[in-house]
This record gives sequence, C-alpha cells and structure tokens, in this order.
Amino acid sequence: MPLPKFAYLAPKSLSETCALLAQHGPNARLLAGGTDLLLKLSRAGQSPRFLVGLRNVPGLDYVRFDATTGLSIGALGLLSTVCEHDDVRRRYPALAEAAQATATVQIRNMGTVAGNLCNASPSADTATPLLVYGAEVVLHGPAGDRKLPLDQFFLGPGQTALGPGELLREVRVPVPAARTGSDYQRISERSQVDIAAVCASGLVTLDAEGRCIHARLALGAVAPTPRRVDDAERALVGAVIDEAAIARAAALAKAASRPISDARAGAAWRKQMVEVLAARAIRAALRSSGGRP
Ligand SMILES: Cc1cc2nc3c(=O)[nH]c(=O)nc-3n(C[C@H](O)[C@H](O)[C@H](O)COP(=O)(O)OP(=O)(O)OC[C@H]3O[C@@H](n4cnc5c(N)ncnc54)[C@H](O)[C@@H]3O)c2cc1C
Repeated sequence: MPLPKFAYLAPKSLSETCALLAQHGPNARLLAGGTDLLLKLSRAGQSPRFLVGLRNVPGLDYVRFDATTGLSIGALGLLSTVCEHDDVRRRYPALAEAAQATATVQIRNMGTVAGNLCNASPSADTATPLLVYGAEVVLHGPAGDRKLPLDQFFLGPGQTALGPGELLREVRVPVPAARTGSDYQRISERSQVDIAAVCASGLVTLDAEGRCIHARLALGAVAPTPRRVDDAERALVGAVIDEAAIARAAALAKAASRPISDARAGAAWRKQMVEVLAARAIRAALRSSGGRP
C-alpha cells in the first residue's frame, strides 16, 4: 500500500521538535524508528500532514546504566541495543527478554523502546517489564521536563498522558534491590514474529531470611492498557513464597484481567493463560532471586 502524502520535518533540537509538535497539533506525528507509525499510515489511511523526525536531534540515542541512578534509555534507544546491553541482561533480565521477543532483528534495529511505549498498544512487549521495575518516563514539552511513573502513562489503547507538544525524552529505571529476581513470559499463536496474545512480568525481592518484601506483577494484552495487579502483588508480600502463594497470586491476576476476543485469541483462553503465565513469571522471578521453589 502506498504511503499517503506528508511533509517530513527534521528539527535539530528538542525545543524545535516540541515547537513543531505544538504548532501543528493533531496534524503532526512524531517519527522515531517508524516501524509502527509508517505501517499505520499505509494501512489505516491515517494521514497527518507532517511527520516530525527525531533522527537529527542529537543526544537521544543511548542506553546507559549507572550503579546509583540505574538505567536510562533515550528517546532513540533501540530495542536491539536494550536486548544486547550487558547491564540490562544482568540487572533487568525481564526487559532484555521482552526486547528480544519483540518482532524481528530488522525491526529491533529500527524500533525504539520509547516508540514501543508511546504506541500504547496493550500488548507492547517492553511495557510490563518496565512496570515491574518501577520505571518512570521523562516527558519533554514546551515547558521543559516533567516526570511520570510509567503506570500513569498509559490511558487506553493508543492513548498516553503525553500533552500537546510533548515527547517522551527518556525512560528511567531504578537499580533493583539486592535479592531481586524478575522474569518475562509471553504467549502468541506463532512462536516468532507475532504480537503477544498474553504477556506477564513478575518481580520479587526477598529479605535475608527468604521472605518476600517486595513484589510486582504486570500483565499485557488482557486490558485496555498494560497494567499492574496490586492484589496479586500484596498477596505475595510478607512471607516465604511457596506454591500455594504463587497459585493465589496467579488466580488474583486472572480475576483482575479484562481480556477481549480478537483475531489473536479468545477472551476465555486469554484469561486462562493469565493464570498460567503469571504463575510462571513469579516462579521464575523467585528462582532468579535466589529463593525457592
Ligand atoms: C512486523 C512487525 C512486528 C512487530 N512485532 C512487535 C512485537 O512483537 N511486540 C511489540 O511490542 N511491538 C511489535 N511491533 C511494533 C513496533 O515495532 C514497536 O512498537 C517499536 O518499538 C516501535 O518503535 P518505533 O521507534 O518504530 O516507533 P514509531 O513507529 O516511530 O512510533 C510509534 C508511535 O509512538 C510515537 N512516538 C515514538 N517515539 C516517541 C517519543 N519519543 N515521544 C512521543 N511519541 C513517540 C509515534 O508518534 C507513533 O505514534 C511490530 C511491528 C512490525 C512492523
């Protein structure tokens, strides 16, 4: 399908980018890797008059780890950089796994983590690991920077908390505490190059006696946005996690999910898979934290 006509604008600074986005409002769209946006333009007949490319804005293409401040991913930080980054693989394995599971090598070499989040698909692979690691996003607009916890960023399918003239400048992820384990699980009809029908990330932190002192569980593709399951997280904290606790938390996750039926899967099957993947994610997170089982 041919692309509709548009003007390509190539700002050279963040302030120029925000000014263009503010000036053209709904007639303009920001372009990062283009792997989502260009497909949508050709498929859905969406036709913004202006695409504002980020490529010429310096200082946005980075994935950095600092032992005090944690992981920072710039607006042009690629999925492929994230999944190959030594510190990400070692300290944020659920994020590395999720980035690795996204699309194909060619798309990961073009697509950004920021684009994956801003696209606001309920099934976005990097969303649930970033939720369990407690990520925040730095949004930059005409008034400068503002920070937002990632769990307040997603408002609905394709909808985010980005305001007029704003872009996502950086994703920040704190350093996980000692004795923390995490894991990412996904299931799709095809084993490769398929959007997740259900995905889940789990994270647990144990104290020196092996009791769980912090837990996070997030689900994707089973609600209008990727989301954490507070009830399930609470059910894991305060005791040594055993199989009964895992089953309780997974059942709570299933109860909290609100999947729809679509071309990828039926709602009832998705609900069942939430329970399975949530249990697997918690179990694997527990194992990598050094705890049982
Ligand atoms: C064949 C194929 C397979 C795919 N498989 C998967 C998959 O398995 N899992 C998955 O999660 N995704 C998948 N995707 C979707 C896509 O590749 C990812 O979402 C990718 O991370 C998007 O990043 P991008 O830089 O290309 O974003 P773009 O296409 O450039 O932008 C996506 C959206 O985000 C906005 N945007 C981008 N960057 C910013 C920013 N910094 N600030 C504000 N708004 C911004 C754009 O305006 C646009 O609305 C697939 C796509 C294709 C074509």
